[in-house]
Amino acid sequence: MLLTPLRVVHIFTGDYDRAEVEPPVLPPRHYEAAAAHIHDRAGRPTDWPDPRGVALAWGIRVIPSRVVGNASTDGSAIYYRPALAFDPRLRGLLVWHEIAHCYLRRHEPDATESDAWLLSGACVLSWRTARQMSTEEAAERQQYAPVWFIELRRDFVAWHTLFPFLAAE
Ligand SMILES: [Zn+2]
Repeated sequence: MLLTPLRVVHIFTGDYDRAEVEPPVLPPRHYEAAAAHIHDRAGRPTDWPDPRGVALAWGIRVIPSRVVGNASTDGSAIYYRPALAFDPRLRGLLVWHEIAHCYLRRHEPDATESDAWLLSGACVLSWRTARQMSTEEAAERQQYAPVWFIELRRDFVAWHTLFPFLAAE
C-alpha cells in the first residue's frame, strides 16, 4: 500500500475504516514476541540495527528498484525506490515494514496490512524502550524510522499500558 503517514496513524489508533485496511487479527503482545524474534535471529551487533542488515540476516535481499509505491516484497527480496536513499529514516521504516510482511507471510498467513504496520512498530521500538525513553531519546538511537512514526509507536504503547484491557485477546 502507498505510505501516507495519516493512514498509518489511523491504523495505530484503531480506525481501520479510515485507513481503508482490514483490522489486525493478532493480539498486541504478539507483535512484541515477533519483533524480538526478528531481532534475535538476525543477531546484529547493535540494538538499533539497519533493517537492511536484519533482512539480509534473514536471507532476504534488499534491492533499490523501480517499484509500485515506495517499497514492496515478494517474500524473498525487498524492493524500494532508489530515491529513498535521500531519506534514510523513511527508507528504514519501509524496509522494516516489508520485513514484517515477510515474517507474517511465513508465520501468520492470515495477518493483515494492519498487523504488518503494528509489527513494524514493535520492530522499530520495543515495548520496554517505548516506556523508558522520550521520543527525542528514542529518535536519537533509532535512526531507521521517521520521528513521527517513533512518536506514534510510543503513543500506541502508552495507550495499551493505560488501558490493558484493550490488549486482551
Ligand atoms: Zn504493507
